[in-house]
Amino acid sequence: MHLVIIGGSDTGISAALRARELDREIDITVLVGDAYPNFSICGVPFYLSGEIERWQALAHRTQNDIESLGIELRLNTRATAIHAAEHALSLQNRESQESRIRYDRLIVATGARPIRPPLPGVDSPRVFFLHSMEDSFRLETFLTSAKPRSAVIIGAGYIGVEMADALTRRQIQVTLVEQAATVLPTVHEELGEMLQDHMHSHGVRVRTRARVTALEDGEDGIFVHGEPDWHVETDLVLVAVGVSPDTALARAAGIAAGIRGAIRVDRYMRTSLPDVWAAGDCVETYHRLLGSNTYLPLGTTAHKQGRIAGENAVGGRRAFEGSLGTQVVKVFDWAIGRTGLTEAEARHAGFYPLKASVTDWDHKVYYPGATPMTVALIGDRSTGRLLGGQIVGHWQGQVAKRLDILATTLHHQATVESLNDLDLSYTPPLRSPWDPVQQAAQKWLKVLS
Ligand SMILES: Cc1cc2nc3c(=O)[nH]c(=O)nc-3n(C[C@H](O)[C@H](O)[C@H](O)COP(=O)(O)OP(=O)(O)OC[C@H]3O[C@@H](n4cnc5c(N)ncnc54)[C@H](O)[C@@H]3O)c2cc1C
Repeated sequence: MHLVIIGGSDTGISAALRARELDREIDITVLVGDAYPNFSICGVPFYLSGEIERWQALAHRTQNDIESLGIELRLNTRATAIHAAEHALSLQNRESQESRIRYDRLIVATGARPIRPPLPGVDSPRVFFLHSMEDSFRLETFLTSAKPRSAVIIGAGYIGVEMADALTRRQIQVTLVEQAATVLPTVHEELGEMLQDHMHSHGVRVRTRARVTALEDGEDGIFVHGEPDWHVETDLVLVAVGVSPDTALARAAGIAAGIRGAIRVDRYMRTSLPDVWAAGDCVETYHRLLGSNTYLPLGTTAHKQGRIAGENAVGGRRAFEGSLGTQVVKVFDWAIGRTGLTEAEARHAGFYPLKASVTDWDHKVYYPGATPMTVALIGDRSTGRLLGGQIVGHWQGQVAKRLDILATTLHHQATVESLNDLDLSYTPPLRSPWDPVQQAAQKWLKVLS
């Protein structure tokens, strides 16, 4: 049996590893569109900031690690067509040589591409996007050769805010432009405003409720024009306005697509074609709280779904348990993250959300190094069920692990009140007898009553 996987990033390699773990006999071939199999693109901002010196360190595993498991990696090789009836693929390598490969089982893990807004001037050599290792080399080359002193980042989602931090560390004056009311619009406005102030204190100029309308090359820089009535000249522009699923190949083969053009899959990661699975940033994702599919491209989900597709492609029957949209980001001294639904999303989904928040110390304040942390919880008024949570605090204050307590509670569909019953660890240098997430739960119950 021959398992072929299209795409050699988080999803594709997770699938290959799981398939190999379960079946030592089958042939596994991964088509890697570039020369960088299994690189952690989530780490790219930290390479560009200079915090990680060698890009090679971003490899989750080396090529050798993977090949030593009997997984064939075909680098710089792209699938150009899926011939479903013949169970075959057309391939093209970097030298434009064409070939064909047969498969018995196929996993599509083609990921996503950065959205390219239709702005005049977007093709300028001073405009950058960030999704692949090659994108990061292009930006790094510009940073070292042109030595830009200023940058405009369009989009203040998690990549935009991470890159504002990264470029500031390289002594570049950053202006961050966001059309929503605050940076990181996926969290509640109060937390977004707190992050905005923090970024401002580190020298980032933040422009919210602003829309870029055109880019225009100048003699020594690039002009950014925006609304309402806003113009600035800068040395480089980074566009980080989100991604869209890369599904042209799958759709041309007749594989059904759904939300935002992402491949439609069931909980077993099966597509509409026999013997073809798909996973990661190119597919719709089952949302555990909504009980329906959405599009939520994230690295953690990509790893999980890839593992499930790999297992099922070799005869397993594992279902994807669903995403909660859990994500966290480090920006300068802070970490900020969310899991589950925001208040507005919960209302939209038909819940009766109630929000409460507290600010307290990450550990007992008498022990040196305590830092404040804000926890916001969203629970359902009628059932008491936890629906979501958001946390902002010092990046070494265990924000991520506290979010994970909330994510675990959400996974088990437990109530806000049940957070108080959790037997969490405590020692003064690390925690308080009542953790901030439990204090937030108590506050939520008080507001409810
Ligand atoms: C800068 C940045 C920071 C991020 N940080 C985080 C984070 O902190 N936390 C988090 O959870 N997520 C993060 N993400 C998102 C995360 O990286 C993605 O969700 C994850 O990489 C998706 O993996 P994937 O394998 O599905 O897709 P991709 O990583 O997009 O990989 C798809 C691969 O398929 C290849 N391919 C496409 N078409 C073909 C073809 N026809 N033939 C052969 N190969 C093909 C592409 O070349 C690509 O290598 C970040 C993303 C970026 C860009």
